[in-house]
Amino acid sequence: MQKTLKQLHEELKSGTLTVDDLVSSYKKVINEKDGEIHALLGMYSDSLVASQITKAKEMFANGTATVLTGIPIVLKDNILVKGEYATGASKILENYVATYDATVVTRLKEAGAILLARANMDEFAMGGSTENSAFGVTKNPYDLTKVSGGSSGGSAAVVAYGGVPVSLGSDTGGSIRQPASFCGVVGLKTTYGDVSRYGLMAMGSSLDQIGPFGKSVEDVEEVYKIISGYDVHDSTSLKDGERGIKNEEQIKKVIGVPRDFINRDGIDKEVITNFNESLEKLKKSGYLIKDITIPNLEKALSVYYIIMPAEVSSNLARYDGIRYGLSRGGETSIRSYFESRTAGFGEEVRRRILLGTYVLSSGYYDAYYNKANIVRAMLTEEFVKIFKDVDVIATPTSPVPAFGIGEKTKDPLAMYLADIFTVPANIVGVPAISIPSGKTEKGLPFGMQFTAAHTREDVLFTIGKDFEKL
Ligand code: GLN
Repeated sequence: MQKTLKQLHEELKSGTLTVDDLVSSYKKVINEKDGEIHALLGMYSDSLVASQITKAKEMFANGTATVLTGIPIVLKDNILVKGEYATGASKILENYVATYDATVVTRLKEAGAILLARANMDEFAMGGSTENSAFGVTKNPYDLTKVSGGSSGGSAAVVAYGGVPVSLGSDTGGSIRQPASFCGVVGLKTTYGDVSRYGLMAMGSSLDQIGPFGKSVEDVEEVYKIISGYDVHDSTSLKDGERGIKNEEQIKKVIGVPRDFINRDGIDKEVITNFNESLEKLKKSGYLIKDITIPNLEKALSVYYIIMPAEVSSNLARYDGIRYGLSRGGETSIRSYFESRTAGFGEEVRRRILLGTYVLSSGYYDAYYNKANIVRAMLTEEFVKIFKDVDVIATPTSPVPAFGIGEKTKDPLAMYLADIFTVPANIVGVPAISIPSGKTEKGLPFGMQFTAAHTREDVLFTIGKDFEKL
């Protein structure tokens, strides 16, 4: 069993382990393994790593060290670090160097973490397999013929193969939880507004959240504590008074299961068996399993694939070949705009810009976009109601285990359907976690997803730790 952050922290504090040795040992693993897996798009500059190492040592010396001091961490390549490349795995930003730090980066730097490398992802976080990366796929550490999941596949895979203890990803419709489940690690999507989006490349602004990956619920919780909190730079950031009453309300030990929603065509038999066995274990350890119905849950995927592309189409308008990124000349400025965007964006990104522009166009705005927002509001109310009766909602994280590289690339709809269980949390803005729950006959990991009420990450941590022990 790999050491937890708290264990590493104790060793660093007592001096039985040095920051230099710790960083070198992880770099060694990366050098050995990343050629094959391709979880990373690049290392951060030596000067950044060196300055953070110096800072970490000072913090240990003067007694200000946090649990992340001296700990190497990888960031998804849509999170900005001043003076470092940030590509969003897109050709259009291939040589882009960030001009400021994301708020999560400021917090990690202050905590003394060692920012080590940039993780591969689907281009601008659109996808569920990292196959949409402009720089090649990330392979699954458990089976090199399978995908690592996505869009934060690199962040999940690097933790899975032991290249760093923890990493950050972003989740718009499942991009932390699904790769976590495919790679056998823990991944947390936080409450919308709990972690600042300042310095995260925007995909769907009303859905995006940054969150941690780790080997245990405890490690993920430690990172969460450092990166979450109010930020004046993000207008959707929750103020301290808007956060839940954490750790004060007792949990009821009731787990809600939307059976009709889970038992559907297209869900893998082994996934269902594993899910039912997991529930059985929870029951034996004292949890009440309660069947629930959430009327509009079925519609979450459709709502997501209307709202998300609408936001994508407006957010990505900024990549115009003029202000930053790849620039292709044209006879007129409008030609240059088209040339740059055609050369710079991959197929999936273009598809979503088209879909989004369509649903926002006059005449369709009411038919699609407004209707999706109405259903979103209804679903949000239904969730509020359900959480009066249950602590969490449990589902498998993904309807299938990691699929083969190339298996779904020709069929975007099949890829979208794999998001069925993860998108509701983003639509509603509540926190959700994926925790490893065993392996298929062929040795591929399963993930169990727990979703809690708004700002109740504490409930996820309590139940998550109980579940891990089983
Ligand atoms: N797979 C989903 C999509 O393609 C989720 C992406 C994400 O969460 N960034 O949109």
